[in-house]
Amino acid sequence: MGLTRDLVQKRSAELGFDLCGITNADPPASMDAYRQWVGKGFHGGMDYLARSIDLRADVQSVLPGVQSIIALGMNYAQERPDTSGEVKIARYALGKDYHKVIRKRLKRLAERLAESDPDAHFRGAVDSAPLLERDLAQRAGLGWFGKNTCLINSHRGSFFFIAILLTTARLEPDRPAVGGCGSCRACIDACPTGALVFEEGRWQLDARRCISYLTIEHRGEIDPSLQAGLGEWTFGCDICQDVCPFNQSRPQQPLRAALTPIQEFRAHRARLSLQEAAQLSPEAWDAWSQGSAVRRATQAGFQRNAIHNLENQDRTSPPEFG
Ligand code: SF4
Ligand code: SF4
Repeated sequence: MGLTRDLVQKRSAELGFDLCGITNADPPASMDAYRQWVGKGFHGGMDYLARSIDLRADVQSVLPGVQSIIALGMNYAQERPDTSGEVKIARYALGKDYHKVIRKRLKRLAERLAESDPDAHFRGAVDSAPLLERDLAQRAGLGWFGKNTCLINSHRGSFFFIAILLTTARLEPDRPAVGGCGSCRACIDACPTGALVFEEGRWQLDARRCISYLTIEHRGEIDPSLQAGLGEWTFGCDICQDVCPFNQSRPQQPLRAALTPIQEFRAHRARLSLQEAAQLSPEAWDAWSQGSAVRRATQAGFQRNAIHNLENQDRTSPPEFG
């Protein structure tokens, strides 16, 4: 049997991928919007996003001869542990580093698919190649862009990782996803730092104001006017996804925000108080963050965040009388 769309769907489901769609190898449709976004400086200090623009416009630069793009989604939804007084981590980073978990499965998927088409070449990517993953995933039917700029699947919400498998095999494409937020603006109203802005006729993320960027990617001091907005978040921020109706379970829609069955994505690290995090030694940081996406923040950044979290606790604590 040759490599078919149905077989790709079947094999990806066997390896634990919740969503699978296929698109062609045309350039991403959002390149102009992406260039404008970088041109405005909305990417903040993530210079690699500016440097890789031309590469992102051409998927052939990632796999020469690519004919089809398989977009995959893997659910990481889980209940948030009660972290009062402790570090608060975005859901996607509570478990093992998703790059490693997914890369292994992508490799296995490529091997299984090659059994049906030994001449085909594959290249997997999970935040590891210059691709506009969200754009390609939308075109492959996985979801549409919400006002919070996340990719939203109408049945499963937005708590899923996106992975891409490029192949030189020609596969029947899926239809792009369609959907929209309607008049909802829950995420816009809930964002503590006003990072979602409406410009050029669309909602955009100004990363320089986003807690996720500030706590993970930003190096050095955080602008004092944004420090209180961090609230309790030590690494990342889930607010604009938490408030999204597409992530909330409904009796008639049990698949929405179904909890992930992948144990590696579940919270597993030792709990850490904010006081401990603010004073972590390099050795303790190394041990605590081992194998986790949290390492991206660096020890200095994580400590800085924990100190702001403690300051924010003091800001919100009721005065003591005695
Ligand atoms: S992740 Fe947090 S800070 Fe960033 S846009 Fe969403 S709600 Fe705002
Ligand atoms: S919270 Fe509302 S406006 Fe924001 S992404 Fe979800 S549906 Fe769209």
